[in-house]
Amino acid sequence: MSQNHEVVWASCLNFIKDNVNRQSYKTWFEPIKPISLDKQVLTIQVPSLFFYEWLEEHYVNLMKKAIKKELGNEAKLEYNIVVENSSGSKKPYTINMPGHPATNGHEQGVNIPMDISGSIKNPFVIPGLKKVSIDPQLNPNYVFDNLIEGECNRLARSAGLAVAKKPGGTSFNPLMIYGGVGLGKTHLVQAIGNSIKHDYKSKVVLYVQSEKFINQFIDSIKTNSVNDFINFYQLIDVLIVDDIQFLSGKERTQDIFFHIFNHLHQNGKQIILTSDRAPKDLTGIEERLLSRFKWGLSADLQAPDFETRVAILENKMYMDGIELPKEVREYIAYNISTNIRELEGALISLLAHSSINRAPIDLNISKEILKNFINNVSKELTIDHIQTLVCEHYEMPIDLLKSKTRKREIVQARQISMFLAKKFTKTSLANIGKYFGGRDHSTVIHACQTVTNLMDTDTLFKEQVEDLQKKITINYN
Ligand code: ADP
Ligand code: MG
Repeated sequence: MSQNHEVVWASCLNFIKDNVNRQSYKTWFEPIKPISLDKQVLTIQVPSLFFYEWLEEHYVNLMKKAIKKELGNEAKLEYNIVVENSSGSKKPYTINMPGHPATNGHEQGVNIPMDISGSIKNPFVIPGLKKVSIDPQLNPNYVFDNLIEGECNRLARSAGLAVAKKPGGTSFNPLMIYGGVGLGKTHLVQAIGNSIKHDYKSKVVLYVQSEKFINQFIDSIKTNSVNDFINFYQLIDVLIVDDIQFLSGKERTQDIFFHIFNHLHQNGKQIILTSDRAPKDLTGIEERLLSRFKWGLSADLQAPDFETRVAILENKMYMDGIELPKEVREYIAYNISTNIRELEGALISLLAHSSINRAPIDLNISKEILKNFINNVSKELTIDHIQTLVCEHYEMPIDLLKSKTRKREIVQARQISMFLAKKFTKTSLANIGKYFGGRDHSTVIHACQTVTNLMDTDTLFKEQVEDLQKKITINYN
């Protein structure tokens, strides 16, 4: 067949024209330029990736019919997509239409040459890829059983469970988990993956860090195998991409991810994403991707509360077969409040020290060992801390604050501590009283009033209290 690409495309258009309405024809087909014809592979140029995806989504069968009519059953279509590069100048590169493995390369106006050998290379370096042989890249230790539930993760965890039961079959697609460092994002999404792998043996699950995804994509450009890269990811049934904030500013990678995302989503495949911030705060990510992230469910992970931290520690100890006195567990949980990874780190250093010194771990040893650790992490402001600060300031032992002593300086230090406790913690008056040797709430009210009055009349006193407040806000806010 020695036909000319323009003639072939013109005939295709005639057929297409008869099968779509005028507006669609004008919008989607008139802008297409035929580029080349090589044996039975017709290459057409489209103005954007979006355009390509639209065609693929809405007109793929019609176009298939049209070119087969012209070029026979072996006919294939290739796209030359004009992709805007970062410098703003337009340089087209080609992407093969999925489902139409092309036979051989012809790369007109090509910016990224493609490997279109037909065989799919697995970027996770598993030779001779078959669907079932894709290693999910999951850590078997991250499961739901050891992911302790608390107020901090209830929604995310139960959405994760729902997705694990029916991957691709819930409205949580994509499922987007976001939250700060060390709050359990990776653990949760890996637990989903492990559960699916367990219940649905034939489903292809893949966990990938977004940095790895980016690097694989860059490598695929270098080795002319972008096509393989795309095809590989389109095989996945459950795709988990961790820390997608790293895609920020990576326009090319975002384009490819968008493409893969659409393909998977349209085919009812499950997509699970994590990010260290809420979707609305993801700068440097294209709007069209962000809007897709919002199609499903976004659930956040908060810092765990005290009870959950204790439960996590106890579970961890149980798994490791170790025991710690209750006061030590509570000491750790009390002082390390913002990051579960640090909580585990503290536990590990305690174990290391005790096994080296062959000594049981008590509260004093723990305090000593964890001193540096705890100074480095942010603390919740507690009445204990306020008492410590005030007593340091007045150079007196804490016990005196809780004693019955009516000595003037001590009464004053006690009243200031109560006043600060009221001001800087959410503790109730009655509870504050308990912290000061079991006094009742009216004593606390009286203390707060006395301090306020004194501050109004005594400038020296006022300065002292303000100094203390400054110390508190510097150290704890
Ligand atoms: P992120 O990915 O958000 O930075 P990770 O998933 O790596 O956090 O979690 C940090 C550590 O805390 C991991 O060892 C994880 O097992 C543990 N962890 C997090 N959340 C929980 C939880 N709810 N129960 C038990 N362990 C948890
Ligand atoms: Mg993580």
